Amino acid sequence: MLTIENLHTSYNGIEVLHGISMKIARGEKVALLGANGAGKTTTLASIVGIAKEKSGVITFDKQDITNIETYNAVRKGIVLIPEGRHVFTRLTVEENILIGGFLMADRRDRLGEQLERMYTMFPLLKDRRRQMAGTLSGGEQQMLAIARGLMGSPKLMLLDEPSLGLSPIMVSRVFKIVDEINHSGVSILIVEQNANIALEFTDRTYVLELGHMNLSGPSEVLKDNERIKMAYLGM
Ligand code: ATP
Repeated sequence: MLTIENLHTSYNGIEVLHGISMKIARGEKVALLGANGAGKTTTLASIVGIAKEKSGVITFDKQDITNIETYNAVRKGIVLIPEGRHVFTRLTVEENILIGGFLMADRRDRLGEQLERMYTMFPLLKDRRRQMAGTLSGGEQQMLAIARGLMGSPKLMLLDEPSLGLSPIMVSRVFKIVDEINHSGVSILIVEQNANIALEFTDRTYVLELGHMNLSGPSEVLKDNERIKMAYLGM
């Protein structure tokens, strides 16, 4: 579904991704692990057209999207749930969700149906729909950011550090929801520093180190890899 070949990405002439390659098949759940500054967020930003200084080839559904504009990435079915959630704190929960449905702005009936689907999936957001998003807890804001992204009916969802700053119980809830989304047919690429949960929850894992893709394989197998254990699992 998504293929990245020999991707080099720079900021103001300074290269931070040095020719990385990766693939995500339809229906797969893939993790991208790496330490601070390895280039995980830059990989996601390159896919959705936020990072523009790049070379290499990115294809999605067999189409070249290397130089796609971000709004067109969403139209093609790629949605990014950004690190730190970035909900609009002074808008209500419902307004935040509706923003994710901007592609259906002229189809009020479909927008309403989609909103109801979100409320079925996230009853907590329904209870709080008139509340300012800034008053939600971190975990609730993460759910809201995911619901906003789902309004775009993605084929591929990119999640940047969804576990960041959340309590262990909230982390499991978020991953359970992501699992449900995956089972409904959405492919998942998840960037995580929490290697334990990422390896537990995904089919395959890539490991990015200082802008190089140094290791990849089935998550089940990488869990027992000595280098992974030492560098990411504290063993
Ligand atoms: P973290 O988990 O800390 O977010 P990361 O693996 O996601 O790390 P990136 O955020 O992709 O790493 O950063 C990779 C490198 O690119 C870092 O050296 C960072 O300082 C640099 N970088 C990231 N964004 C920019 C930017 N907008 N302008 C300039 N340099 C940037």
